[in-house]
Amino acid sequence: MAKTLLIRNANVLVTMDEGRREIAGGGLFAEDGRITAVGTGDDLPETADEVIDLAGHVVIPGLVNTHHHMYQSLTRAVPGAQDAELFGWLTSLYPLWAKLTPEMIRVSTRVAMAELLLSGCTTSSDHLYIYPNGCRLEDSIEAAADIGMRFHACRGAMSVGVSKGGLPPDSVVEEEEAILKDAARLIETWHDPARFSMLRIAVAPCSPFSVSRDLMREAAKLARHYGVSLHTHLAENVNDIAYSREKFGMTPAEYAEDLGWVGPDVWHAHCVQLDEAGIDLFARTGTGVAHCPCSNMRLASGIAPIRKMRDRGVCVGLGVDGSASNDGGNMLGEVRQALLLARVGFGPAAMTAREALEIATLGGARVLNRADIGALAPGMAADLVAFDLSGVGFAGALHDPVAALVFCAPERAALSVVNGRVVVRDGQLASLDLPLVIERHNRLARALATD
Ligand SMILES: [Zn+2]
Repeated sequence: MAKTLLIRNANVLVTMDEGRREIAGGGLFAEDGRITAVGTGDDLPETADEVIDLAGHVVIPGLVNTHHHMYQSLTRAVPGAQDAELFGWLTSLYPLWAKLTPEMIRVSTRVAMAELLLSGCTTSSDHLYIYPNGCRLEDSIEAAADIGMRFHACRGAMSVGVSKGGLPPDSVVEEEEAILKDAARLIETWHDPARFSMLRIAVAPCSPFSVSRDLMREAAKLARHYGVSLHTHLAENVNDIAYSREKFGMTPAEYAEDLGWVGPDVWHAHCVQLDEAGIDLFARTGTGVAHCPCSNMRLASGIAPIRKMRDRGVCVGLGVDGSASNDGGNMLGEVRQALLLARVGFGPAAMTAREALEIATLGGARVLNRADIGALAPGMAADLVAFDLSGVGFAGALHDPVAALVFCAPERAALSVVNGRVVVRDGQLASLDLPLVIERHNRLARALATD
């Protein structure tokens, strides 16, 4: 027997379907985690195994986070790294990250996922690119399975240390052969390409300034052999551009093209300094961008030209980026920042609330190469979140609850359903004892900072 879920009576249900319908009094019906009907009372069955009445709530498709480094939750607001740009920030944090343990990855990933789920995110990628002291990608994969988040685990890597002209200390880089071997092992063991997959693997050398040209090329070959996606950081700030010109004699976009790092199976984080030719290249090739507004502001990297990218047809998703350069993982908050930053850069018409939500749902799904999430429609995964409109933050904003969700201060999700399973109920995580995990996380963070 199929397990069924009925959501009904939402103040408004935002579908993000082809007609971008917003259904007053809307709901949906799901069987075994797949949506089979969307509409108002008459369109839906009367009962189900689980019935959730969402009167007074706005319901949206679960938000999709396309860029994160969850382990960095352990190193938020570290004094020495509070006021630096990207390269200075990285070099002051690398020595702390060199002390990471498997337990630290497991606990920090749970904390980061809890924060995401409580802020309306149901699918996240994570870019883990540092593997000291026996850490493995499995440490984060296990956390996702336990907490119930849809997960794209990126096998990151660094291979060019200071002695070879890179940025990271030699102690945190790996041998390139071992990196590729481990990526192949992870794909063969864990990658599920099927529709409604809860776990996918991506191949993700960290950045042009921490891996070699060879590794970038070999990583692309490996990913295409297995049919998995490729992910890295690109064109993050002006120093990043200068490094690319000096070391490779190319802009980051030219470098990406030269290495085979363009196409619908590739997504790049940041692209704040992507030039005109780069934007055209990405549009032409279907290459995706993970836009990370908070991190870009925090590190003073600049304002990514998202309006221009979208107008030319580049796929753009949203990312909170690592918890140490945000210093949060609030996905609804990131939607708001995307709207505000676009307007600071390019005027009040540069982004509407609904476009910001679209980038964070459909945009993210497309960037991660998924056609089964990002919208609430028959045949899609039952990934949805609900926000209670009765809170003080929405008082006076109910003329347009959908816009209020983006314009007003970000509220905590009241309900979060992933693949038909309730993961957040009444604003509390159902799959984890969060206060206990936070206590353990804070103990580990202190140990990391003081040892
Ligand atoms: Zn990043």
